[in-house]
Amino acid sequence: MKSKLPVAVLGATGPVGQKVITLLQDHPKFYVAEVAASEASARQVYGERVQWKNEIELPRDIAKMKIKRLNSIKSHYVISALPADIAKEIEPEFAKRGHIVCSNASAFRMHKDVPLMIPEVNSDHLSLLKKQNTEGKILCNPNCSTVFLAGPLAILKEIEDIEHVSVVTMQAVSGAGYPGVPSLDILGNLIPHISGEEEKICKETKKILGGPGNPLDCGITVHVHRVPIAHGHTVAAHVQFKNKVSQTQVMKALKQAEAKYKDFIKVHTADDRPQPLRDLNPADMRIHVGRIKQGDRSDTVGFIALGHNLVRGAAGAAIGILETYLKKR
Ligand code: NAP
Repeated sequence: MKSKLPVAVLGATGPVGQKVITLLQDHPKFYVAEVAASEASARQVYGERVQWKNEIELPRDIAKMKIKRLNSIKSHYVISALPADIAKEIEPEFAKRGHIVCSNASAFRMHKDVPLMIPEVNSDHLSLLKKQNTEGKILCNPNCSTVFLAGPLAILKEIEDIEHVSVVTMQAVSGAGYPGVPSLDILGNLIPHISGEEEKICKETKKILGGPGNPLDCGITVHVHRVPIAHGHTVAAHVQFKNKVSQTQVMKALKQAEAKYKDFIKVHTADDRPQPLRDLNPADMRIHVGRIKQGDRSDTVGFIALGHNLVRGAAGAAIGILETYLKKR
């Protein structure tokens, strides 16, 4: 344990905080040293307070930990899984006190000096950290659906400039936290609205795909849906390029990205894949891309992307950003 770096998890009792804990079990570089949650949970024993909803058993050492108040956290490295309104107040205080905060919350994603990162796509945005005038720093991971759109688009925009992207999402219920969407609203149903989500996907995607402080200039139109799936957000995207692009070029570029990075892109060629139930594992960092097809016009190509909203879309993303920060700072 001594050779690993201690990490504090803020919002440790929520679905994202729990996933951070599971992903840091046996992690080669980090271990969970402290857990924090709301005042209602503070000073209670984690294993007695948490409603543990994970595929793996709650690790015994974590179960025995006392939940801390936010202001008593000591670890230099912090992964925040706080609600956005709380993060807005708390994360700058942590940065002032010298902590490195990797945040899942939306509070600072669009702040001009905060890197909004997918490590395989835009680690050059770490340069924005120099503009933060606090001893500590805030880094953010994107909205969970944004990742599954922006990841493939980052590869496609290298083939040809993007004119416009039409996007439809189908988002799992665990994306709404716990207990999240009432069962009577979602069972056997589909809700074509998630408050604020369409704007987030649109703005965040452009920030990620552009240079640091210089968002990509393209059109993005999004419709989101909450669907009765436990985990796994699916994104259907039709990309209109400025010039002709073929399905074959897109397939080739995605395959190259699949080969280049570990756990970034997984290309599917079967007609009925990717599927949340068949293709996602509980620690899945891959963006599963399939159904790549030429549109009605020679400048348009469509694809389906699927990812684990709590892993690549949240907890795993924040851990990946912390790893990248330590490597490249
Ligand atoms: P959640 O279910 O609402 O959990 C929130 C956590 O924050 C709980 O541990 C809660 O502790 C704690 N908390 C609430 N109020 C607090 C306060 N005043 N002070 C300190 N701690 C407080 O949320 P989640 O789904 O795990 O998501 C966490 C964050 O990640 C959110 O900002 C969310 O938007 C973002 N995010 C979520 C997903 C996803 O797929 N779920 C994906 C990407 C990003 P108590 O148990 O004590 O209330």
